Amino acid sequence: MWKLEKFDLRPDELPVEESLFSLGNGYIGIRGCFEEGYPQDITTIRGTYINGFYDLIPAKYTERLSGFTEVQEKLPNLIDAQGIIIYLDDERVSLFEGQYSDYRRTLHLDKGFSERSFKYKTLSGKTASISFKRLISFAVDELFLNEVYIEYDGEIKVESTIDANVTNYINAFDPRVGEHAKLIEWQETKFLNEKFIAMRSRTYVTDFDIGCIVYHNCSQDGVLSDINIENKAFIKSIYSAKGKIQLTKYAVYTDNRFDREYVLDRGRDIIEKCIDHTFDEHVEIQKRYLDSFWEHSDIQVSGDTTAQQSIRFSLFQLLQSTGRDGRTNIPAKGLTGEGYEGHYFWDTEIYMLPVIQLTQPDLARQLLIYRYSLLDAAREEAKALGHRRGVKYPWRTIAGKECSTFFPAGTAQYHINADIAYAFVQYYLQYKDMDFVYRYAAEVLIETARLWLDTGHFYEGWFVIHNVTGPDEYSCIVENNFYTNAMAQYNLMWAVKLYRLIESQDKEEFEALNEKLSIQSKEIDEMQKAYENMYLPFDKKLNIHKQDDAFLEKEIWDFENTPEDKYPLLLHYHPLTIYRYQVLKQPDTVLAHMLLEDTADEKVIKDSFDYYEKLTTHDSSLSACVHGIMASRCGYYDKAYEYFRESVSLDLEDTHGNTKDGLHMANLGGTLLSVVYGFAGYRLKESGISFTPWCPPGWEGYSFKVYYQSRELKISISDRVTIELMHGEKLDIKLYDKTYQLEKTLEIPVERGNKI
Ligand code: BGC
Repeated sequence: MWKLEKFDLRPDELPVEESLFSLGNGYIGIRGCFEEGYPQDITTIRGTYINGFYDLIPAKYTERLSGFTEVQEKLPNLIDAQGIIIYLDDERVSLFEGQYSDYRRTLHLDKGFSERSFKYKTLSGKTASISFKRLISFAVDELFLNEVYIEYDGEIKVESTIDANVTNYINAFDPRVGEHAKLIEWQETKFLNEKFIAMRSRTYVTDFDIGCIVYHNCSQDGVLSDINIENKAFIKSIYSAKGKIQLTKYAVYTDNRFDREYVLDRGRDIIEKCIDHTFDEHVEIQKRYLDSFWEHSDIQVSGDTTAQQSIRFSLFQLLQSTGRDGRTNIPAKGLTGEGYEGHYFWDTEIYMLPVIQLTQPDLARQLLIYRYSLLDAAREEAKALGHRRGVKYPWRTIAGKECSTFFPAGTAQYHINADIAYAFVQYYLQYKDMDFVYRYAAEVLIETARLWLDTGHFYEGWFVIHNVTGPDEYSCIVENNFYTNAMAQYNLMWAVKLYRLIESQDKEEFEALNEKLSIQSKEIDEMQKAYENMYLPFDKKLNIHKQDDAFLEKEIWDFENTPEDKYPLLLHYHPLTIYRYQVLKQPDTVLAHMLLEDTADEKVIKDSFDYYEKLTTHDSSLSACVHGIMASRCGYYDKAYEYFRESVSLDLEDTHGNTKDGLHMANLGGTLLSVVYGFAGYRLKESGISFTPWCPPGWEGYSFKVYYQSRELKISISDRVTIELMHGEKLDIKLYDKTYQLEKTLEIPVERGNKI
């Protein structure tokens, strides 16, 4: 249950496996490609990435209107240090041509490394045992390790390569994949001595350097027989042996985005500290890091090993892609592929951060600090869009520039401002960290709230917001999107609350804030008036919140006559066709009800779910999990479990057909939320935390931990709910409809779901 394993090799599945077997540590991400490569007819997206590293490419339009993005940031594929090619008695080992057996590929979720092993029969009939292992270190951000071990009764030759002739993957027919192939160019190769090979490449426009220093450690059975340097951007170190060989390849990546240092000097210092440890010792260090991660963050399931394994896979992959330095975030595809070009979206705040925040406050804080660091860029973006005040966070970005060129489903998603504000508030509610409020949250809340004042206006006493797009990208540029208005209301309300809180707690901080942001009390009153009078569209007849003012006037999409192969609709119909119908790509009102359940009563939540679910295609991977969570909320237990199964298998079974472009990180986060927010019904509000748990069919039970204001709680659910206070002071907790005081342990029977 701590492994992802494959026992057969299917060439057509390899691009997907590259994503599934990716390794990363929040800084480096490397796809799970075969060290020795594949034949030409198999697609490979051979990728090595650094989180937040980017070049700029021109944004393409034929009609560039005022305020449109001019350049886009894009994640380059970097120097490839994965290559290891094996010859046995001069015969090149290829799993696609030769004979092999006992093939096995494993990703160790507890130890944080991957391996691939097989027996290989050469033409002469002799058999070799071959195994590869690789690891990206959580202890040393810059370190990627590769090791090969071979036993063969004959001559062995191992060619280890470093390749700077890399390009990005392109697909002009899929809007979700980029078009620019060449983003980085080789600059120099240096031999620090025969064992250290240092290569440096540079991006074309941003002039960022990336260094890769490689050190080989070969067992005594082998010798370095040659270094091929004909092409300085592609170096081959050739090791030879008889009988057996173990070659460990240490690769250290450094970049100079933030400090403009000479990357190879820093790389050399780092690698020298790493080479004293063997691969296995690095695994030990890795395991110590992961032991502590799993101790707090594991979600344990008994009675369903598949679910257990998929949950751990999701958690592990989420951790591997999470930027940890306050300057990077989590790309939509993590560090596992090039889909969406390495961009960060609202996915982080709404789908991933809530999971991380449960038990990893430091990581959560860093992700929020990253958003804080974009404030100046977001001020510029607000100006470019014609606003007179506030910030407008880019819809998709790496370093702060708006990178969306299709504004109706991109820039127009103003809700991202409120999503980010929501995440800051949730962090505050969970950790009550006033220092965080003074330093970061207050400014983000006020500045995002200001934008609402500038975007919306009062009409017949209501505060209305026009011409924005909600989360559902199949209805664009609409009037009064319910999700946006409700989230803006929360944003405005919390801006005022935090402002008043600071006023009551610390006069100095209060004055500093007023001065820094030139806040007038009139403006705060305006915010209050706006949230108190926010217009939330509602249809009395259907008893649901309207997705937007005009949504219910549209015709319903002809689902019956839409063949399966026309999904996702976005790849087959002009957007205007889609926009004219009642059809959803992903939850909108239903998501608002999940995040802000107090904006509607039980019946409205349920009626809205029933209404919108029928219209939702789930063409976005951000859809199934939210529907599952809300199905739990509405008491549709079978449905909740079905949605859970859907989100759990989305990448593991490639059900959306594009896992090769990278894992769908929001869905991985959503899978975990399906357990905590869905099955366990966890909610975090100003009034405290609450649970409404049930246990899915076939599960004997499940448990997880949550931090809450200097406390750690363990929640276990089977036919009973048990909440243990692991440490910290007693607190009030709401379970179903009742509030209990938790001193040590609380146990009551499960009141919801189908009885086990
Ligand atoms: C979804 C967006 C999401 C983006 C990146 C799109 O398909 O509609 O909501 O932010 O993917 O994951």
